[in-house]
Amino acid sequence: MNNNQIRPQLSPQDAAAMLAQLQQQNPQAYARLQAMRPELMETGNEHLLNNALAASASGHGHGHGHTHSSSCSHSQAQMHFSQPVPEPPPKPDPTQMSIVQAVQYNEIERVKQLIESGQVDVNTPDQEGCYLLHWAAINNHIELIRYLIAKGATVDLIGGDLKSTPLHWACRQGCTEAFFLLVDNGAAIKSADVNGVQPIHIAAQYGQIKILAYLLGSGVDVDCVDERGLTPLMYSCIGPSSGYVPIPNSSHVCCTQFLLTFGADVNHQEPTRHYSALHFSINNQNPISFHSLLKHPQINIHVKNGDNFDPLIFARMRQNSDAVAQLERRIQSTKAHIKPVFLQRYLVNAGIRKWLTRFFMLFIMTLIGLSVNSYEHSYWLRILFPIVVIFLCSHLFSYYVLEAKSVDHFAFAYVISSSVLMYITYWIYLQEPKFTISDIIYHFSTVYGLYCVRCIKTLNPGFIKQQNMTLEGNSLTKEKICIAFARDPRWTLDHFCVTCLIRRPLRSKHCPVDGSCVAKFDHHCTWLNACIGGRNYFYFVRVLTFGTIALIIWMCKALHLIFDDFEQYSIKYLLTQIYDPWFIYMLMLTAFNAVWVTLMTSFHLINAVFLGVTLNERLTGFRYSYFRDENTGKRTNPFQRQKFKNFLETFGLFRLMSMCRYTRIDWSQVYDINQISGAKMN
Ligand SMILES: [Zn+2]
Ligand SMILES: [Zn+2]
Repeated sequence: MNNNQIRPQLSPQDAAAMLAQLQQQNPQAYARLQAMRPELMETGNEHLLNNALAASASGHGHGHGHTHSSSCSHSQAQMHFSQPVPEPPPKPDPTQMSIVQAVQYNEIERVKQLIESGQVDVNTPDQEGCYLLHWAAINNHIELIRYLIAKGATVDLIGGDLKSTPLHWACRQGCTEAFFLLVDNGAAIKSADVNGVQPIHIAAQYGQIKILAYLLGSGVDVDCVDERGLTPLMYSCIGPSSGYVPIPNSSHVCCTQFLLTFGADVNHQEPTRHYSALHFSINNQNPISFHSLLKHPQINIHVKNGDNFDPLIFARMRQNSDAVAQLERRIQSTKAHIKPVFLQRYLVNAGIRKWLTRFFMLFIMTLIGLSVNSYEHSYWLRILFPIVVIFLCSHLFSYYVLEAKSVDHFAFAYVISSSVLMYITYWIYLQEPKFTISDIIYHFSTVYGLYCVRCIKTLNPGFIKQQNMTLEGNSLTKEKICIAFARDPRWTLDHFCVTCLIRRPLRSKHCPVDGSCVAKFDHHCTWLNACIGGRNYFYFVRVLTFGTIALIIWMCKALHLIFDDFEQYSIKYLLTQIYDPWFIYMLMLTAFNAVWVTLMTSFHLINAVFLGVTLNERLTGFRYSYFRDENTGKRTNPFQRQKFKNFLETFGLFRLMSMCRYTRIDWSQVYDINQISGAKMN
């Protein structure tokens, strides 16, 4: 096993000697080292050291380049522990190659010659106890594997010092084609090597997501353990060793989230050192695994290992500053601060917290305006009073109400509060007794805009549920989807969500905030605290458009008023004597809002109407494959050609669309750009 062993610069013998010396001379330092560098101790332990040596010498380490075949019979320990890797020897002449060399170099003619002349038997091991099928599998030589199997090679041959099968070797190097070829020829997917390590453990550790998907879809237990009691989840947190080189083009991503989605036990602890997956991810500096684990609802961040270290202490000892910061924030935000018990009943409720956040924002914004406006008090009091009150209130607020989630409500609370205050100010300062057209447009825009905000918040933006997945008319279970994903080389991670376990429709994306895939995903709006997708985008554009109209009318009216008075009084006199400070405060607020809302509206309209793309597609630089012309490979935009249809769709004028014979596309059912026929697209 060479999973989580570090690579000391010392030779392993020297390291062992040094550690033994340290243990004698300074037992305290030794104990500290033991806590901080458990793997080093393992390599210091003679028995485990020998194991590690055996592991590094075994087949697992070999063969990703065909080229180092000739250094195979060699001083393996140096190969793995000393840094500069020797230059690969030149490729030998094919006609002189041994059978093992011929397999490693994919010289199929030479292999055929040797086997068919009867000089070599396909099931004879080489000096290291490895078989031809092992070498063919680890190098992903598909033709050779087919040939060897046809010539009677046994698929589940056990070879190398780890006593592993060709399937193990293919897994580790990310040879997906070789893996499926072996499986199709009856290779046992649950075979265990000398350490009880199964293909699922290797796939999880080396990030072979397609192989992992196949194994989980075929019913391999997601929590199966090896002889050390490690689960696939722990292997994914350990991650590949630093020198790992997968074969080119193999997909190689962190599998932790995928295993968690499949129901892996997130708090399982291995029996010897009592490490949890969280400990492993901290120990091996694996931030992707660490974040996936931390997001899991059932994660216990106080679980202690055998040395009585919880993840926070452990992260401090391992000097994993990112993990320390994350864990401290998490512990801070989950503390139950609420002291008067009768308050707990109300403040634990998420809905009440949400509304408190909204009112808090409205209260603060109103307080600033009102206190500035109170003439009868001195200048200093008017400034100091709101500062003191806001300071006290925000402390009380963060003490009782605020948690990580409440922060999400602040931007939305600002949007709503400023709209309400603007509207009230309009009635007081700008509305003349006689209604003009612009007054009517203003009132309508504000009221209708707020109604659309409500619609965005309550409507489903297009969340895709696993239950309604179909492939060629058949509904799919998550197991079937995983196998389909694994088997089809055209399905990349762009087409498969490892969190929702669904086949992703075209233009959809996984929203991390809502934890679900959204059809025709646009963006997750922080200002409205809502997901914007294909189903509610037109409400979003209406909010922006009517918001811009309302803001511009407000500003025009206010500026008009000022310019009229400007002819009679000086500007200083106007600002200090004529206008209420409240009005000036609202004027500044509205001017600020008008600028950013107008910019945002123009940006969204250009994207949606002129380019016909979502914000997500725009921001990711059109990187999705459907923006590439299949024949020429150049960038094209298939949505740009139909501006009028885009306009109607953007504003949700669906009846007009059908009158113009445009079809409204249900993006949750489109998986391929060719599904939308050319006639409709033009
Ligand atoms: Zn998803
Ligand atoms: Zn979202």
